[in-house]
Amino acid sequence: MRKIAMYGKGGIGKSTTCQNLVAGLTEMGKKVMVVGCDPKGDSTRLLLGGLNQHTVLDTLREEGEDVDLEDIRKTGFGGTLCTESGGPEPGVGCAGRGIITSINLLEQLGAFGEDENLDYVFYDVLGDVVCGGFAMPMREGKAKEIYIVVSGEMMAMYAANNICKGILKFAETGGIRLAGLICNSRQVDNEVEMIEAFADKLGSHMIHFVPRDNMVQKAEINRKTVIEFEPKHPQADEYRTLAKKVSENDKFVIPAPMEMDDLEKLLIEYGIAG
Ligand code: ADP
Ligand code: MG
Repeated sequence: MRKIAMYGKGGIGKSTTCQNLVAGLTEMGKKVMVVGCDPKGDSTRLLLGGLNQHTVLDTLREEGEDVDLEDIRKTGFGGTLCTESGGPEPGVGCAGRGIITSINLLEQLGAFGEDENLDYVFYDVLGDVVCGGFAMPMREGKAKEIYIVVSGEMMAMYAANNICKGILKFAETGGIRLAGLICNSRQVDNEVEMIEAFADKLGSHMIHFVPRDNMVQKAEINRKTVIEFEPKHPQADEYRTLAKKVSENDKFVIPAPMEMDDLEKLLIEYGIAG
């Protein structure tokens, strides 16, 4: 079973890209579980055709410790298994700790056990790696492969570089590796070249360039991945290509994060001077 986490700046497209990628993997016959690690609880909405109302933390609050796997795990598109960690009540408690609680509970309930025959588990993790809870899938080796969703926008690249610092920190103890950058286009000038150069500096690669396309939002309004909603659309093929590349990927590295000055130079070289 491959254990994968998706990281990246908030709003960059982690959940969308993750679910479309997962839909592509299920088309290839893979058995996949998705664990949403964002208090918004929207990491599996497109696979389930709506929000999963039974987040792990809600269920624990309502039903106490006596929880069954079926209470917190639903089956979605292509037989994907979908769980949302959920979050604490707003303003109270640490969201990161909720993720720790959820993953531990899933393990106790045997969600990742041999009998499940999973090919992949994906963790869709909120934002930056500033808080220990959100770094937890990395820190304790829950996820082994990290994909960073990024675009050519400065703050997205800045966040990606910070995430690499987190990976570097936990690489020795947790055994985690950077598996690649997924460029989710914001139609920035020279975006492909810039993200390829950025990936190269990090010692990694840009595994795929996902174009920006309104079909993604159309499918989203209909609570579906593009692959389910419009399977013949070129954007669906982009996600299938991403799925194939992920399934064949063997470039797992300990990243070399960039110095701020160098990152800014790269942006100037490709962005402003481009
Ligand atoms: P995150 O999980 O990183 O916070 P989301 O996956 O929720 O981000 O995406 C944020 C918004 O961007 C969503 O409304 C989604 O439809 C849109 N989006 C993501 N990827 C694309 C794309 N390739 N083309 C067009 N819109 C996209
Ligand atoms: Mg998200």
